[in-house]
Amino acid sequence: MVSEKWKSILPYIAISAAILVTTFLLARIDWITNHTLYDYGLIFNLEWASDYWFALRSIIVMLNISLAITIAAGFFSYRRAEKDIAKTIYICKTCGEALTKVKGSVNFEENIPKFKVLKNCPMCNNRLQEADPVPAHISIQ
Ligand SMILES: [Zn+2]
Repeated sequence: MVSEKWKSILPYIAISAAILVTTFLLARIDWITNHTLYDYGLIFNLEWASDYWFALRSIIVMLNISLAITIAAGFFSYRRAEKDIAKTIYICKTCGEALTKVKGSVNFEENIPKFKVLKNCPMCNNRLQEADPVPAHISIQ
């Protein structure tokens, strides 16, 4: 079973892997250009080579930027998932409802959203109790 923290970074790992595969394939194209094509009569000329180098180096820069952004986003996603797991959970003794946040939408029409600590269960209106931290193997929806 994959933990919530690792589940949150799976898309970033997949994107990073795709970027690395693309980098490998680009290196392969460069190798074909610099080795194989000369065997088939390619004649070096600075006119095409400068365009080729510009495109190749631009792609490498773009791939590195994409990889850096993906790794940073994955890192922040992992940290956010860690904080979500550590959230306070309220459990209603009467109906068994477990709450980590207010259900429903938050109105952001005003600049500062207003938050309210729940004291009563929105399902049955009985008083909520703060639960013990949830073990890592239990996933919260
Ligand atoms: Zn309740």
